[in-house]
Amino acid sequence: MTATRILVLNSGSSSVKYQLLDMRDDTRLAVGLVERIGEETSRLKHTPLTGGGESGGESREQNRPIADHDEALKAVAEELSRDGLGLDSPELAAIGHRVVHGGKQFTEPTVIDDAVLKEVERLIPVAPLHNPANLTGIRTAMALRPDLPQVAVFDTAFHTTMPESAARYAIDVETADAHRIRRYGFHGTSHAYVSRKTAELLGKRPQDVNVIVLHLGNGASASAVRGGVCVDTSMGLTPLEGLVMGTRSGDVDPAVIFHLMRVANMSADDIDVLLNKKSGLVGLCGDNDMREIRRRIDEGDEAARLAFDIYIHRLKKYIGSYYAVLGRVDAIAFTAGVGENAAPVREAAVAGLEELGLAVDGELNAVRSDEPRVISPEYARVAVAVVPTDEELEIARQTYALVANRVGERND
Ligand code: ADP
Repeated sequence: MTATRILVLNSGSSSVKYQLLDMRDDTRLAVGLVERIGEETSRLKHTPLTGGGESGGESREQNRPIADHDEALKAVAEELSRDGLGLDSPELAAIGHRVVHGGKQFTEPTVIDDAVLKEVERLIPVAPLHNPANLTGIRTAMALRPDLPQVAVFDTAFHTTMPESAARYAIDVETADAHRIRRYGFHGTSHAYVSRKTAELLGKRPQDVNVIVLHLGNGASASAVRGGVCVDTSMGLTPLEGLVMGTRSGDVDPAVIFHLMRVANMSADDIDVLLNKKSGLVGLCGDNDMREIRRRIDEGDEAARLAFDIYIHRLKKYIGSYYAVLGRVDAIAFTAGVGENAAPVREAAVAGLEELGLAVDGELNAVRSDEPRVISPEYARVAVAVVPTDEELEIARQTYALVANRVGERND
């Protein structure tokens, strides 16, 4: 029997999200989530997707304390087994892990061995929140299935093609190099998937189109993609730089940090929390959900209005600067929770940019759909598109491509 299934694992510090896919036709066989690992109120939600479709299965929940990732993954394995999809199945080809930080060195998905684990560990100082959790997930999965290929798919990989002019900060080179300070970018799996899908939507090859991708979720980032290759992105050393996000400030004058240290007596950790967790939309108006912000704006709420305006102003600045970086733009693609669902954000982001060939058709913009679609009027020079992202599918595809090749190599 040929192994065609891929389990995708996205391990956070207190959660594990997973999907099991069959790569013959990209169907999802099961999806689920374990959250609040290590707390009394842990929860596992598992949904088998039967009938070869994306729907049908009834969700099952476990509400009980789940102490650690090991216990979480064992519980997931049991749930999968109940549907005949267990981790011991010969149809499982590999496990694909989302790894947030792959530094400069990991430019592609990589089969995990001890050397890879060491490197991911070495990158912890630049990704203190994410890489340790990713490593825990990998180690746990390796212990469960030591014989199975485990593949790391890095959030940073798609951005490793950025030229030095975009990747370097203008700070002392020796200091920067000694501490590996440079712009890495994140959400790369999504930017890769969406830029390719956008080309497909336009009926063109990725190498023939220039796209600005706006990944607007709770975390948000923009990228400039020339002919399928990333040439700039808005997140930097960490996911803090760039756009205004749900709880992150995005760009600020770095002097804000030492000013706060000096005048407010705040520590580096205090400021880390301030800029990562208490800023962005939540810091500006108390809400980070765009639906709630729009509702408050409709009721005349000034703070929500200002938060929205600041969010849009930053977005516009990035559209403009990536337009300049690319020289010619064929499409702007909106994706992720806000980008896919918030028509007012899409409308406001390109409003007034007709001179750049950008416009949104009100009716097309109002359509709700899970399908990739163009929302600009026919006369517009640049296509504005809504392209739902699918990071799990992209991780599964990259993982499968890698292990299928390896099987091929061994047979040669
Ligand atoms: P994450 O970064 O957590 O993966 P998502 O891409 O799922 O985030 O996006 C989550 C955000 O999407 C929510 O915080 C909310 O602001 C926004 N969102 C989701 N649905 C809608 C909607 N129907 N209208 C406006 N915004 C939405």
